[in-house]
Amino acid sequence: MRTVIYPGSFDPLTNGHLDVIQRATKLFDRVIVAVAKNESKSPLFTLAERVELVGSCIDHLPNVEVDSFDGLLVEYAEKCSAQAIIRGLRAVSDFEFEFQLALMNRKLNERVETIFMMPKDTYTFLSSRIVKEIARLGGDVSAFVPKTVQQALIARLVEAPA
Ligand code: ADP
Repeated sequence: MRTVIYPGSFDPLTNGHLDVIQRATKLFDRVIVAVAKNESKSPLFTLAERVELVGSCIDHLPNVEVDSFDGLLVEYAEKCSAQAIIRGLRAVSDFEFEFQLALMNRKLNERVETIFMMPKDTYTFLSSRIVKEIARLGGDVSAFVPKTVQQALIARLVEAPA
C-alpha cells in the first residue's frame, strides 16, 4: 500500500490543489490531504471549515481522504505509514522555500521522501491568497475554485465580512 500525504493550509482549497491531488491519485494507492492547523498564518477559515471544504471536493476520488494535523509533518507522515509527502511547485519563486523544507524534513526523517508536482499550466498563477483577494474585492472566482469553496468565500467575505 503506497500512501502519500499532501500537506498544506488549504485556506481555501483551489483548483490548483485539486489538480495536484488528482495527479497524485495516479501514483499512490492512498492520498491523504492533510490540513495544517497553521494558526500563525491567521487563516480565513477555521481548521474544521478547511477540512470540510476539502472533503466536499474530493468525494468523487475514491483513494483520497482528508485529515488535519498539528505539529511535525514527518511525525504525522510516520503515524499514517506514508512513504512520501507531496508539495506543489508553481514557479521558481516556490522553489527556494520548498527546497529548504524538503531537506529539513529529510534531516528529521530519512524514510519520508518529498515529491514535487507541477499543476496544469493554467493553474500555475493560482494561490489561495490571490483567490481570497479577488473574492474580497467582489471578483468572480468560479474559474479558480470548486463551487462549494466559491460559496464559502462569498458567504465569508462578501455577505458577512468580518
Ligand atoms: P502552505 O501554507 O503549506 O504553503 P498551501 O495551501 O498554500 O499551504 O499550499 C499547499 C501546497 O500546495 C504547497 O506545496 C503549495 O506550493 C501547493 N500549491 C498551492 N497552490 C498551488 C497551485 N495553484 N498549483 C500547484 N500547487 C499549489
